Amino acid sequence: MGAIDKYKDLEGQIKFKDEEITDLESSDIIKRYKRLNREKSTLLDKMKKLYPDVKFEEYDLCGDNRHLVALVKGFNNNRERAHYQHNRLCVKCGLTTLVKDYPRLGLSKEQRLMYDYFSKRYFSNKTDEQLLPGISIANIQCDPDLALAIYKEIVKLHPNIDDESAANLFNKTLDEINKMENEKDKKDAAKRLGLDFKSIRW
Ligand SMILES: [Zn+2]
Repeated sequence: MGAIDKYKDLEGQIKFKDEEITDLESSDIIKRYKRLNREKSTLLDKMKKLYPDVKFEEYDLCGDNRHLVALVKGFNNNRERAHYQHNRLCVKCGLTTLVKDYPRLGLSKEQRLMYDYFSKRYFSNKTDEQLLPGISIANIQCDPDLALAIYKEIVKLHPNIDDESAANLFNKTLDEINKMENEKDKKDAAKRLGLDFKSIRW
């Protein structure tokens, strides 16, 4: 069979499939399937629109119960910013004042929500402490991912721990990590906390 004939034959087969598809589409079960998918996507859209408000409420709630605040280094190795950082991060809800030092467009989706949350509180007139008040858990600056991972580990090992005890444990763990002198110990610590050794600013 030549190419033209093969092509025509394929066209004929497709036409046959299309007829079957059209037939199926008129069946109740397919109509129901399509309707459910449409309804589901409407619901998903509503959820997506509501998501920023959900996060804002979560941040508010965490603040009402008092944030657990660590002092953190920047998201990246920006030397200019490194020396005047007083940035704060709540290890419970993840909210961090770091976001206000970056252009909004350079932030991730979650970070942009934090930025917007602070924007609503007129952040340019406020100190980091006013924006994110709470219980201080460590006075030494640490990597934000490291702080979150240490707290996660503490809560995993002690699910019902109160904030003061968690703060003490956090301090102790961070101290131990900071005292580590050789790279192997730090690598082991990173692995235990489920972190990538190279992405952490020790
Ligand atoms: Zn919080």
